[in-house]
Amino acid sequence: MASTSGRPDAASPVVEDALVSELCGHGAEIDALVRAELDRLRAVLEHAHKRRRQAVAFAAARALREKDAELDAARRRAAELEERLRQAAAESQAWCGLARTNEAVASGLRAALDNALLLRSGGGVAFPAAHHQHADEEGFGDSGGPVHEAKDAAAAMAAMSSPPAASRWACRACGGGEASVLLLPCRHLCLCKACETRADACPVCFAEKNAAIHVAGAN
Ligand SMILES: [Zn+2]
Ligand SMILES: [Zn+2]
Repeated sequence: MASTSGRPDAASPVVEDALVSELCGHGAEIDALVRAELDRLRAVLEHAHKRRRQAVAFAAARALREKDAELDAARRRAAELEERLRQAAAESQAWCGLARTNEAVASGLRAALDNALLLRSGGGVAFPAAHHQHADEEGFGDSGGPVHEAKDAAAAMAAMSSPPAASRWACRACGGGEASVLLLPCRHLCLCKACETRADACPVCFAEKNAAIHVAGAN
């Protein structure tokens, strides 16, 4: 039927049925394809969500661990500081004890010095003479030595402010200068200023000198 081959056959109900059934078949195929693609996308999305949740949980756990470590370090530092504070308190107590001891030593030295000054001013003319006669005796500052206490404090003060030439003690080293330096620790008042700077030991008892006190008003 070559004469009817060019005519459109849409009008034919048989062809139309075939076309509809074919289209329906295609529609079902497309439907299945779309569903499959949708499932795939859903799976990808679900996977991405899961990964993201895992990453967040991991980061949170790490942050928590870091905070724990910081807390531990802070606790250790606090304990260290507490220990140091305890040590400092103990040291301060020890220093206080030492200061009290030094204060006692200083007041003892002051008393010895006062004694030596009184001896010097109260001894007057007689003592230097006695000193020349007994050149071998131990020095003047010793508590065991002869003590010439001033009977009158005013007279002692006057004697100290302007000592008469006769009451001056001679330096044990040069013999010319006035003994005006108290040596420590032996407490001998036996050197003049010039000789004291050169001396390493006391000329009276030969004790090694570790300090010297220039007696005020001696020169
Ligand atoms: Zn001298
Ligand atoms: Zn001495």
